[in-house]
Amino acid sequence: MALRTGKEYRESLNDGREVYIDGERVTNITEHPAFKPIIDVKSRMYDMAFEPQYKDKLTATLEDGEVVSRAYKPPTTKEDLKAIRTHVETVLDDLGGVVYRVGDETIGEMWSLYDAKDRLNEIDPTYARNINYHIDRIAREDIFHVSANTDPKGDRSKLFSGKDGGTLLHVVEENDKGIVVTGAKFETAAAYANQAFVKPTILDWAAGADSMAPFACGFIADMGAPGLKHICRSSLGTTNNKTDYPISTKFQEIDTLLVFDNVLIPWENVLFHRSLESAAYIRATVHRYSAFNYTLRLLRRADYLLGTALLNVEQTGLTQLQAVKEKISQLINYREGINAHLTAAVAEAEDSAGGLMMPNQSLLYTGRVFALENFPAMAHLTRELVGGQLAVSPDSDTMADPAIQKYMDKYYSVGQWTPEERGKLLYFARDLLNSSYAGHLTTFELFAQSPPFAQQMAVFNNFDAEKQRELVRKAADLQQKKSAVTV
Ligand SMILES: Cc1cc2nc3c(=O)[nH]c(=O)nc-3n(C[C@H](O)[C@H](O)[C@H](O)COP(=O)(O)OP(=O)(O)OC[C@H]3O[C@@H](n4cnc5c(N)ncnc54)[C@H](O)[C@@H]3O)c2cc1C
Repeated sequence: MALRTGKEYRESLNDGREVYIDGERVTNITEHPAFKPIIDVKSRMYDMAFEPQYKDKLTATLEDGEVVSRAYKPPTTKEDLKAIRTHVETVLDDLGGVVYRVGDETIGEMWSLYDAKDRLNEIDPTYARNINYHIDRIAREDIFHVSANTDPKGDRSKLFSGKDGGTLLHVVEENDKGIVVTGAKFETAAAYANQAFVKPTILDWAAGADSMAPFACGFIADMGAPGLKHICRSSLGTTNNKTDYPISTKFQEIDTLLVFDNVLIPWENVLFHRSLESAAYIRATVHRYSAFNYTLRLLRRADYLLGTALLNVEQTGLTQLQAVKEKISQLINYREGINAHLTAAVAEAEDSAGGLMMPNQSLLYTGRVFALENFPAMAHLTRELVGGQLAVSPDSDTMADPAIQKYMDKYYSVGQWTPEERGKLLYFARDLLNSSYAGHLTTFELFAQSPPFAQQMAVFNNFDAEKQRELVRKAADLQQKKSAVTV
């Protein structure tokens, strides 16, 4: 079995998983109003791979001839990285919106671990074997695989001690079947995914003490495992009118507080255990591949900002104004800035220690920061260009009411734009910029691939600054040859 259909994916969620939302225990997740829209989106992604017009772009062939999702084949050439970009763009084009945590973005974290296989082999050969097994299994069984990094932390002084032996997720027992873990993680999409790569959160693991060993574990968790509780945040508008909220009714990804209440992780699912070195390594490299897929989503968000601003100013003739053109140019600069980083990251891709092809790390991480840091300003510019109608337009049912239609015709028609068409564009703009879900997404994007300070650290740690030092040494005629501290 390789490629799954949407139907097979939906059936796989019927595994007795314990999901809670809005004060109820969910019994049929595929039909629940908070989850159905995003499960339908993911099902559509599975089905797309079978369609003749998409097959070549969305699938790849393993060495033994097995056809798998393009998303799950580890990249070994620049062509593979280009194919990953094509995969993401093809899926988003078909869906007509942006989804983040749908598998392709999170598989890269397994590839980062694969790159450390030689060192892991030295620590324990079973770990490298398990990593290979899972990377292969995810591809061959087309598993919806996500990622759990962040524990709810609370009092930092009690992370490793105190009640129940610490607040971070940790191993409480080892037996012949596997390890038993207790703790919690925040995890987008967990409630409707098949499995997650669970790993330690951001901390100075390299300087850690032996007492931190039970916390330094990485493993694959089955999302239907006994003892696992999915405690979900409420949907922000999935039940709204679809015309008035075209984004949040379709693309809302639900986040989960995933509680591990003494969950048994079988040995074959343990990727590392009691290894501070592995914890430090995975934290330093976790987004080595996945930041590429993530930043491709930010590029698509930039496209939606630009398109929304343009259509709004064009319908009212505002593009004749020089000042408006300059603002549109700022949005184009933003869009092309992200595009340039991604394009260059592939052109200047690097060999990884494990034999894979990584997007150029410095260009990728600086591109991610560029996209995220400038997003609020660009969203604000788009808001400004759309104007106040973004916030004051009546809903679609009211606009269609025969009693008020003549007023809508008078005040909402312009050129070829009917009130209905203008309404649709304004509703789209609102859901992109102003709705509850738009606000939520801004926070999601800020943190989804670690907080801003960690993203800046990735920039710092992946830029080789020796050339800049050498330039200054030479230009200033310094005698000192090499810095004691290097970036
Ligand atoms: C919508 C949403 C979805 C998410 N989905 C996922 C998911 O799918 N998987 C997952 O694993 N996690 C997920 N997260 C969690 C996310 O990764 C974390 O929120 C993020 O890593 C920050 O951790 P924290 O919230 O515990 O904040 P904290 O660690 O408490 O940090 C809060 C702030 O304190 C400051 N700070 C803390 N430590 C330092 C430091 N050492 N140096 C400088 N400043 C510091 C920073 O300003 C930081 O932003 C999600 C979060 C959100 C909001």
